Amino acid sequence: MSDKLRVGILGATGMVGQRFILLLENHPWFEPVLVAASGRSAGKPYAEAVEGRWKMDVPTPEYVKDMPVYDMDADFDKICASVDFVFCAVNMPKDQIKALEEKYAKAEVPVVSNNSANRWTPDVPMVVPEINPEHLEVIEAQRKRLGTERGFICVKPNCSIQSYTPALNALKEFKPKLVVATTYQAISGAGKTFAQWPEMEGNIIPYIGGEEEKSEKEPLRLWGNIVDGKIVPATEPVITCQCIRVPVLNGHTAAVFVNFEKKPTKEQIIEAWRNYKALPQELDLPSAPEHFIQYLEDDDRPQVRLDVNFENGMGISLGRLREDSVFDYKFVGLSHNTLRGAAGGAVEIAELLRAKGYLVSKEG
Ligand code: NAP
Repeated sequence: MSDKLRVGILGATGMVGQRFILLLENHPWFEPVLVAASGRSAGKPYAEAVEGRWKMDVPTPEYVKDMPVYDMDADFDKICASVDFVFCAVNMPKDQIKALEEKYAKAEVPVVSNNSANRWTPDVPMVVPEINPEHLEVIEAQRKRLGTERGFICVKPNCSIQSYTPALNALKEFKPKLVVATTYQAISGAGKTFAQWPEMEGNIIPYIGGEEEKSEKEPLRLWGNIVDGKIVPATEPVITCQCIRVPVLNGHTAAVFVNFEKKPTKEQIIEAWRNYKALPQELDLPSAPEHFIQYLEDDDRPQVRLDVNFENGMGISLGRLREDSVFDYKFVGLSHNTLRGAAGGAVEIAELLRAKGYLVSKEG
C-alpha cells in the first residue's frame, strides 16, 4: 500500500480547486483520492463538472477526469471515511465556511484552508511556512477546544500579502515601523479569467471588497506570538494599503514604502533578501522554493510576464529598492496569487504539517 496521505479537495471545481488538482498530480507525499463541490456539481464526473469552466492553461489531468464529484455536505460521512485530510477552497458565506471547516475538523479530518473564514479564530494557525512555522504549535490548544485527537484547521493568509510581507519579514532585525503598500492585483484573485470578466480588459478598478483590511492586518497576525493557546497579533509595523484590480491574469504586484527603527543600508537589505532561508528549505519540503526571495537589479523588474513563475510560482520577486525622499526606502514586490498566494501555499503548509507530525495517516 502507498504511504502517501489520502487527500480530498473541497471546492475542487473552482479556480483554486483546479490549481490543487494540478499541484497534487504525482505529489510525492499526497494522493488526491476525492473531489467535492456543491450540489450543482455533485454526481457528475469531474471533467463534466468543470466543462466550459476549466481555467488552467494546461488540460485537466487524466487522473481526475472520471472521479465522481461528491457533495461536501450531503456526502460528508463518505468523504470523512475516505481521506486523511482535506484542502478547502470554497466560495460560500463566511459563517457557512466556518461551520463547514469545523464540522470536518471535529470529525477528525484535518482541514488546510484557503478561505478567510477562520483566519482570525484565535487558536487556528495562519501560516506562511517560511515566515511563522512555529504557529503550528497552537494546534494543540485548538484540538482541546474541538475535542479532537487528529482534527484541526490550519489556514493560509490572503494572497495579496505575499507580495510584500516576505520582504519585510527578512528585515525584521531592522524593525520596520511604518509601511505603505499599494497592491496591483490580478483578476484570477477573484476566481476569474478575461473571458469571464471582459470589463477588466484595458481597465483598472480601484476597489477589491475587504482586501485593504486583510492586507493591513494579516501580516501582523503572522508576526504574532502564542499566548495561552491563542495567537496574539503583533502591533508593529503600522501598515496602510490600497488594493487595486489591474488587467493581469496571474500575479499580484506591490509598491511599498517603509520606515525602520534602525535604518539598514541598501546592501544589508539586499543581502537579507538574497540569503533568506527558512524551515521549509531546511526540511526540503517538496513544494518549498530553493530561493524564497530573488532580488532583481534591472530597473524594469520584477515584471509579471517575466517573473511571476519564479521557483514554479512559489518564490517572491523583488526589485527597485531605493532610498525615498519621504520614507527610508521604497521597493516593488511580486508574487503568484494562485500558486504561492493560494493552492501552492496551502500544499506547502500541508507538507510542513506532515513533516512536523500533525498530519498522519488514519491507519497510523
Ligand atoms: P470559485 O472559483 O468561485 O470556486 C468556488 C468553489 O466553491 C467551487 O468548487 C464551488 O462548487 C464551491 N461552492 C460554491 N458554493 C458552494 C456551496 N454552497 N456549497 C458547497 N460548495 C460550494 O472560487 P475560488 O477563486 O477558487 O476561491 C475559493 C476560495 O479560495 C475563496 O474563499 C477565496 O476567497 C479563496 N482564495 C482565492 C484565491 C484566488 O487567487 N482565486 C486566493 C486565495 C484565496 P460548484 O462548482 O459546484 O459551484
